Amino acid sequence: MTLTPELENLINMLNTEKTVCLLAPSFPVDFDYPDIVIQLKGIWFSKVVELTYAAKIINMQYHELIKSDPSKQWICTNCPTIVKYVKTKYPQHADKLIDIGSPMVIMSRFIKKEYGPDLKTVFVWPCLTKKIEAKESGDVDAAITFKELQQIFDYYKENNIPFKDFSFDVTESGDADFDKFYNDYTKVFPLTGAVADTLHYRDVLSPDQVLVVDELKNMPAAYMEKNPNIKFLDPLSCPGGCIGWPGVISTASTAEKIKKVKWYKEYCKKDKMGKKEGKFEYAEWLDFWNKII
Ligand code: SF4
Repeated sequence: MTLTPELENLINMLNTEKTVCLLAPSFPVDFDYPDIVIQLKGIWFSKVVELTYAAKIINMQYHELIKSDPSKQWICTNCPTIVKYVKTKYPQHADKLIDIGSPMVIMSRFIKKEYGPDLKTVFVWPCLTKKIEAKESGDVDAAITFKELQQIFDYYKENNIPFKDFSFDVTESGDADFDKFYNDYTKVFPLTGAVADTLHYRDVLSPDQVLVVDELKNMPAAYMEKNPNIKFLDPLSCPGGCIGWPGVISTASTAEKIKKVKWYKEYCKKDKMGKKEGKFEYAEWLDFWNKII
């Protein structure tokens, strides 16, 4: 098996630089927990973090923004395919796209401030459009899909490259686990409607002012045009959300994939948060702005 130059460069980065893995919350669809953390640290990621903390603090920013002008129509920008789609097909709605970074961008900024600007961040996610977003943002050093991550694991095994024995160091707790910043309800972020579900918008908007859609064919911007009552649109371009992109390895049904993400969230309720409890104060100095238009 040969690797693409992109994956060869990534392995080189892992071997020469302090590198943090930002693992997408859709990972339970393709990888077992906690085995995936052990494997990621085994190929020399210094730390492995979830995006749940970024998801929470972005939600808080969204809430403040909507509150600042509840009469305006807003479109969530966590999905780069939706952003490109609205900008090209519905430029008249582009000013509704929220200028706040996605969980990938915000988590990477947070990690670089927290651990030092010299470290590298690699985003592991199911879709290809995140590669473009990573490059355009300049905030993330590399982005690979779940399929590409599996290729790296297979390459190590086929070539008898030893996985690092990390059991005596790396994590703050000494456990083979995520380096945590938050452990809560935002674990469902890859699922359709999760932003609306976790935004706590009800003090600002009524449920009939919020619309959740998935799949591009549902033409998200058109809904807002037809229904001026909608003030917040929560769209994801893949069926079921980020579990539905072809870059996912699993061929299970959407229902089965949703079950796995929700199982992981429930399973982790018994887990400890460690030193960080997900307080917003940890990131109040962070720049959340992300140029969309
Ligand atoms: S919905 Fe699909 S295209 Fe959009 S971010 Fe998720 S996986 Fe990527």
